[in-house]
Amino acid sequence: MHILTIEQKNILLQAIRDIPNFPKPGILFKDITTLLGNPKAYKLLLDHLSHRYLDYELDYVAGIDARGFIFGATLADRLGIGFVPVRKKGKLPYTTVAEKYSLEYGFDEVEIHIDAFGENGISPYSGEKSRVLLVDDLIATGGTASAAASLINKVGAECVEACFVMELVFLQGRQKFETEVYSVLQID
Ligand code: AMP
Repeated sequence: MHILTIEQKNILLQAIRDIPNFPKPGILFKDITTLLGNPKAYKLLLDHLSHRYLDYELDYVAGIDARGFIFGATLADRLGIGFVPVRKKGKLPYTTVAEKYSLEYGFDEVEIHIDAFGENGISPYSGEKSRVLLVDDLIATGGTASAAASLINKVGAECVEACFVMELVFLQGRQKFETEVYSVLQID
């Protein structure tokens, strides 16, 4: 379970639907709603991830708005640890810390609550710097997730690894990270 076989990877790949030209011409959108609706594939993915991260001594899983919430929150529950949402700007009600990242044209911003991983990033449970796993469905250019990883470190916690269900390898997004990057499925 720690390393998926080709057959297991194929179960996951076949459960993800490709939508050409969404949301704009030239983009092949990887639709994970079909994976979420497939109990065999979804359980296989979560069994794999929970097995991989069991020994990482994590304090929190942070999931990126919005599909990272689904995978991240399910994984956090499996690991018996807390979940923190990394949100698009303007959605969180308490004091936030923000990080900008570049889009094709212009900028976007992600935010987290300043005390999301405990005061100054110190876990209220272990009394030490919180160890955080960042989760999203897909890494393309890596802009969104590397901004989220910076945010985690900015509030005093440690982003131990960034984890994605899919990686668009040709975009080389993992090069934007100082932390470890793991992807379940690599798409050429
Ligand atoms: P990026 O910041 O370029 O790595 O983009 C990653 C974010 O955009 C993730 O939250 C993905 O859900 C979404 N995304 C980018 N490209 C695709 C794609 N081809 N199919 C599905 N989602 C995508």
